[in-house]
Amino acid sequence: MPLPDLAATVPALRTRVAAWRDAGERVALVPTMGALHDGHLALVRRAREVADRAVVSIFVNPKQFAASEDFGSYPRVAERDRVRLDGLADLVYAPGLQDMYPPGFATTVSVAGPSAGLEGSARPTHFDGVATVVTKLLLQAGADHAIFGEKDWQQLQVVRRLVADLDIPTAIVGHPTVRDGHGLALSSRNAYLSEAEFAVARRLNVLLGEIAGSLARDPWSTALAAGARSLLAAGFAGVDYLSAVDAETLAPLAAFAPGRTVRLLAAARIGSVRLLDNLAVESP
Ligand code: AMP
Repeated sequence: MPLPDLAATVPALRTRVAAWRDAGERVALVPTMGALHDGHLALVRRAREVADRAVVSIFVNPKQFAASEDFGSYPRVAERDRVRLDGLADLVYAPGLQDMYPPGFATTVSVAGPSAGLEGSARPTHFDGVATVVTKLLLQAGADHAIFGEKDWQQLQVVRRLVADLDIPTAIVGHPTVRDGHGLALSSRNAYLSEAEFAVARRLNVLLGEIAGSLARDPWSTALAAGARSLLAAGFAGVDYLSAVDAETLAPLAAFAPGRTVRLLAAARIGSVRLLDNLAVESP
């Protein structure tokens, strides 16, 4: 497979998808903001497993960044991304800002439920921005499947909720977090870390594993308070949250409960970088 073709507009995207559909092929979409790393590429490989054709969208969505965040400096490396997708994706969909949000654009898709708390509290306008762009991308592409990473666990549940609530006929597939040799979740924002900060960042998954284990032994408030202290002691400048929640609804939990699957989620800061990670918590 050669370098993927480029589509920059909704009609160009729909023409390609319609041709595949007419030929009886199934299509999977991988929405990204570019600066592709091996985590994104794993999602694209998954797309090729569940469908015949893989479309990767690359769009740095201003609506999911707060004014104080890194929209302006977010890495934009379109050509390098296309080369990374060589032999993996059939099409790169890279709409311009004006294509996605033309003058007069006035609609927001707002999800409650799983968007409450955690990232929703730390970044109050974030999930409305995500929900709006994901709804548009799914309706634009009309794909059979869309692949999202478990790295952004809360986002994955928000997307599952919105697709169910709005009857969007695209099956949402979650893909496990891809990590480096130290267990650090790959992220485009890791590029902002210095060598010393990398060493701290690599502690996050290790400590989360230990904290998940302590939930089986100690009262959760004790385990989580000690866990937050251990993150600070490891060198993180701050812990935005460290919470054990219902894996699907993101409702806070205080203890294991029958029928509930538990997920441990954390956001911790090093310098100006916020690192997110999460893992499944086995009930004892
Ligand atoms: P982003 O470009 O950061 O918006 O991410 C695009 C998609 O890639 C989202 O569904 C993310 O959850 C997913 N993703 C990002 N990093 C990873 C990773 N390390 N492992 C698996 N999926 C990831």
